[in-house]
Amino acid sequence: MHIGIIGAGQLGQMLGIAARELGHSCFFLDPSDNPPAAKVGPVIQAPFDDRVALAVLADKCDVLTYEFENVPVEALIDIADRTPIYPPQEALQHAQDRLAEKRLFESLDIPLPEYLAVDIPEDLHEAIGAIGLPLVLKTRRLGYDGKGQFVLRNAEQFDAAWEELGGRELIAEQWVRFDYEVSAIGVRNIAGETATYCLTRNEHVDGILRTSRAPGGDAALTELADGYVQRLLEHLDYVGVLALELFVADGNLLANEFAPRVHNSGHWTIEGAATSQFTNHILAITGESPGPTDTTGYPGMVNLIGQIPAAARQGHEGSLHDYGKTPRPGRKLGHITVIGASSDDLERKISKINNSVTKSTAG
Ligand code: AMP
Repeated sequence: MHIGIIGAGQLGQMLGIAARELGHSCFFLDPSDNPPAAKVGPVIQAPFDDRVALAVLADKCDVLTYEFENVPVEALIDIADRTPIYPPQEALQHAQDRLAEKRLFESLDIPLPEYLAVDIPEDLHEAIGAIGLPLVLKTRRLGYDGKGQFVLRNAEQFDAAWEELGGRELIAEQWVRFDYEVSAIGVRNIAGETATYCLTRNEHVDGILRTSRAPGGDAALTELADGYVQRLLEHLDYVGVLALELFVADGNLLANEFAPRVHNSGHWTIEGAATSQFTNHILAITGESPGPTDTTGYPGMVNLIGQIPAAARQGHEGSLHDYGKTPRPGRKLGHITVIGASSDDLERKISKINNSVTKSTAG
């Protein structure tokens, strides 16, 4: 099949590699010069809301998908009747607006932190009264990797928070004193068959994912999270891979957000699962059954942020994925996957990478 992928970053690149291995060819749409996915297929260089370019992509392809959630939904409406687009637009709409996303979680009985919509300063006063401090103020749209967020620890920070984020549609959210963070990744195909991966435990530094480890939770947490993912997949009549990010606090799960796409916390599945999240996404959108999601050993993933130092290329026991991007502070340039024979062995391998590689990449 010809698969059109909107976005040609590293997720598009890894989707493209998986698609090629399954015998498909990929076309991408992306505004940047020489994006990572250019290595695996032709890229139409155009803005994501360029309706003519989207129509060209739709006409070339049997099915369309996307690698990031800020694709303008309105631009997709025109081409949706020409070529199927998965995941469905309803998923995209909810994932683009934190308020809609939280209401969706509530309607599906998925527990989440307390929150209130904030549009004017009085709303923030009300939220401080109702939720208490600390709380986190977030833009409803276009936030990622902790951007568009302000943690309000005391009332004196009110003006600073408003100066930074005021004037946009916001939400105020309870600051969760979580024990750790996990993500639950599931897949559903056109016929409604589903599969889920084991939980992944995630560590963020400055709001950016740094390290993932699997399996990342006990049987009880995994069952709970699987149930939440299944509810989302069914409700949205979802097709493709979906990742739900959750906080673990006092043995309970609270949903933070979901991504209607393959996710950074699932990169370990390339080496560490029977079928990677990328292969499963392609299988799902091309009408095939999901492949098995069993885990191999104790996989972990370390993101390479800001630069890829020489030490990342040798002297560790992992697999390096270099996305081929120009180094820039805070930019995800690659990752290393390691597979431990035990959880202790995984820790040993991750510390070795942290000592020799990532200390010099934090930027
Ligand atoms: P987000 O963009 O919402 O995924 O936030 C990025 C990271 O900020 C999360 O992975 C958490 O580490 C942290 N964070 C976001 N919201 C909260 C919250 N309500 N309570 C505690 N930490 C949070």
